[in-house]
Amino acid sequence: MASDAEEKEKTGEAMVATPGPVQRPEGLAEVEEEPPKTPEPKRVYEAGTQVSCKASFDGQNHPAEVVDRRRVGRTDTAGADDGGAYLYYVHYLEYNKRLDEWVEHGRLSPITSPAELKKCDSLRSPSVLSPRHDAGPGQLERKVTRNLKRRYDEIHHTAPDVEDLTPAERTLEKEHEEKTKVKNIQMIELGKYELDTWYYSPFPDEYASAFKLFFCEYCLKYMHSKKTLVKHMHKCQARKPPGREIYASTRPPSVRHKNPVCFHEIDGAKDKRYCQSLCLLSKLFLDHKTCYYDVEHFWFYVLTERDAQGHHIVGYFSKEKNSQEGFNLACILTLPSYQRKGYGKLLIAFSYELSKLEGKVGTPERPLSDLGLVSYRSYWTRVLLGLLRDYKGSLSIKDLSTLTAIRTEDIVQTLQTLNLVKYYKGQHILNVTQRAVEEHLKVHKLSRDVAIDSSRITWKPHAAPNSSSKKK
Ligand code: ZN
Repeated sequence: MASDAEEKEKTGEAMVATPGPVQRPEGLAEVEEEPPKTPEPKRVYEAGTQVSCKASFDGQNHPAEVVDRRRVGRTDTAGADDGGAYLYYVHYLEYNKRLDEWVEHGRLSPITSPAELKKCDSLRSPSVLSPRHDAGPGQLERKVTRNLKRRYDEIHHTAPDVEDLTPAERTLEKEHEEKTKVKNIQMIELGKYELDTWYYSPFPDEYASAFKLFFCEYCLKYMHSKKTLVKHMHKCQARKPPGREIYASTRPPSVRHKNPVCFHEIDGAKDKRYCQSLCLLSKLFLDHKTCYYDVEHFWFYVLTERDAQGHHIVGYFSKEKNSQEGFNLACILTLPSYQRKGYGKLLIAFSYELSKLEGKVGTPERPLSDLGLVSYRSYWTRVLLGLLRDYKGSLSIKDLSTLTAIRTEDIVQTLQTLNLVKYYKGQHILNVTQRAVEEHLKVHKLSRDVAIDSSRITWKPHAAPNSSSKKK
């Protein structure tokens, strides 16, 4: 089958097994009856095939790669394999993995022109499992190494050298990649929202292949059915996250918001089950590291909107209890139902408020998700422009860092993109005029309305845990 597919790809034909042309004696063609039409078998697309696929997000065709396929309907389709008997899981080469989806056969078409194939090749991300055949040994090695390292970072929440991996570990990494390429749970219900998920998440086996999971929005217990959830909601006493309330606003954070917000601090070692559920839930919307089961070394800060029914989870960030690298945030997520409301920046702002109370500067752990990076860039830009506009007197980069708890490297990087810093005699110095700041502010309108009222934070820094409790 595969060799046949390859052969057809080379010649640029659509792979349909039509019978050869019927030889007819000349002159008889017109009078002969049309033979009864049998439907042509549809091409089966193998994993790794590059195709053009009509996407759900805009209804247009985009270059894509088949990641997986599964049989649907009758399994006893007459005769050989028919492409129409499958659903295909596709990754759009130009887009983030969150848009990967299952599609029916009719939305796929083969890519045949050499120019299009070349474009696809250049878009394909490197993969351990399907290295490009044209990659030379050196090229392949680099790709494998980079990819493995990324996977390893994701799973272990750390960044060891990939050279340290034994062959057995490499095999495990490959298996892990294979398993996580296809999104497992398609949908969840959480409070009043039904959400389409974005990515694979490692739920325990009995839940891992459910089409939809039902979450208690307060204790985050997840269930298979609505019926079980309804029963649970009658019994469940929780109406807010566990842990301690450390921030409660009296008003909504802006005129755009309806309800006041709160932060709860949860100890991963104490409320382990809640924090594990939170990590599994968030992994459905994050394409990289989360800590899953290794939660005891982290604090979790859960943001909620408060109304008469209770506290509704909006998002959270986690923070390593004792970060040697000065990370003040490990994972950050705003649930899709609350995105585009400024909550990402509110979570980031809160993480820096905690750093200020600790008398430290902080920075988020890398890599950040694409959405996380957008929120951070926006937060840093707004905070720094606001300070540069309002501050009277002279300021150094160090001063900016002290005032904001933002690490100097992040400040320099942000100001470089705004062209507000220059390199002079071996160091970066501010190169700011009020006019330049005003110009930038026209673009980056300061929404000072979504802000933390630091006077309402009831939190004190934790004593550093002794070194024996430091994570591996
Ligand atoms: Zn519950």
